Amino acid sequence: MNVHRSVRPNVLNMAGYVPGEQPDPGQTLIKLNTNENPFGPPPSVVGAVLAAAEKALQLYPEPTCRAVREAAAKVFGILPQQVVVGNGSDDILTMILRTFIDPGEIVAAPVPTYTLYAALTDLQGGRFIPVPWAEDFRLPVDRLVETGAKVIFVVRPNAPTGHAVALDDVSTLCQRAKSIVVLDEAYADFADDNGLQLLATHENLLITRTFSKSMALAALRIGLGFMSAELTLQLHKVRDSYNVNRLSQAAAVAALTHRADYQPLIQSIRLEREQITLALRQRGFTVPASQANFILATVPQGGMGGAAWARALKENGVLIRYFGSDPYLADKLRITIGRSEEMQRFLQVVDHILAS
Ligand SMILES: *Cc1c(COP(=O)(O)O)cnc(C)c1O
Repeated sequence: MNVHRSVRPNVLNMAGYVPGEQPDPGQTLIKLNTNENPFGPPPSVVGAVLAAAEKALQLYPEPTCRAVREAAAKVFGILPQQVVVGNGSDDILTMILRTFIDPGEIVAAPVPTYTLYAALTDLQGGRFIPVPWAEDFRLPVDRLVETGAKVIFVVRPNAPTGHAVALDDVSTLCQRAKSIVVLDEAYADFADDNGLQLLATHENLLITRTFSKSMALAALRIGLGFMSAELTLQLHKVRDSYNVNRLSQAAAVAALTHRADYQPLIQSIRLEREQITLALRQRGFTVPASQANFILATVPQGGMGGAAWARALKENGVLIRYFGSDPYLADKLRITIGRSEEMQRFLQVVDHILAS
């Protein structure tokens, strides 16, 4: 039997999302490739996970993550009924497409963007329409609306460019698009502002957040979705019944309760971001200002190309993310902001490569 004949054509034909490399624990690479927080979570959060591990592992977790939703509602000034919790924010993105996209329907996003959207759209049998960013990386509102998309994704600050679109433009998009607008705020904690206040005035807006980046809990897979209470009822129907495990729920509550403990870590990443931006510019890279915990650096002109840079860095023990299959990104490196000593080492390696 040819099992391929049984596989849904859209699954058979899709490339699938390729996550950044996770080296084996024994390897001593400097890991600047997947935008994790280089610091572990604060002891207040680790303690909550250990405490949760000591009880009730034989029981299913609370299916709707009630305690997490209540803690999030307090922090973000919304109602617990407006929050959906996911097994990572990727899980929320999956729920969104399951809820809104039938086969053949259109999903759009300004590109370059988070590459998972296209993969999830393929899975759903939908059609992903990439819309290039406008000049100066403004939100191409008209062209997004013209796609007729049922769901439009906007990342703010954007991955992999790091820029944050004007919130007024997001607001205009919500008004003009007769569709769902998803504002993916995976990196909002590193930015100067966020779009939370737009929720009250735009019923078609959904906002997603993750605990994998600023909250240093990538291992536990926790994400939040904020939207109207009405919409959460629909998303709850399409998610896995017990999508977030007990330990992750305990961690999420603790992280939200002890948000202040994260401030020094986030501050230090923001500071490091400004320093590495300047240091790379001095070395001939083009580096636009970033609002996230990574920068997108164009390699110096006239020297090695992007792929060669990525290879040379890896040979010298530094992992960064390279998206060479996208022509726009072929001469660019996405570099996660790590700890101070990691960035120092990274710069030494860059100097070594430039000199050789
Ligand atoms: C990292 C990232 C996510 C995924 O977050 P998880 O909570 O780890 O699933 C979602 N969106 C963007 C833009 C990201 O960069």
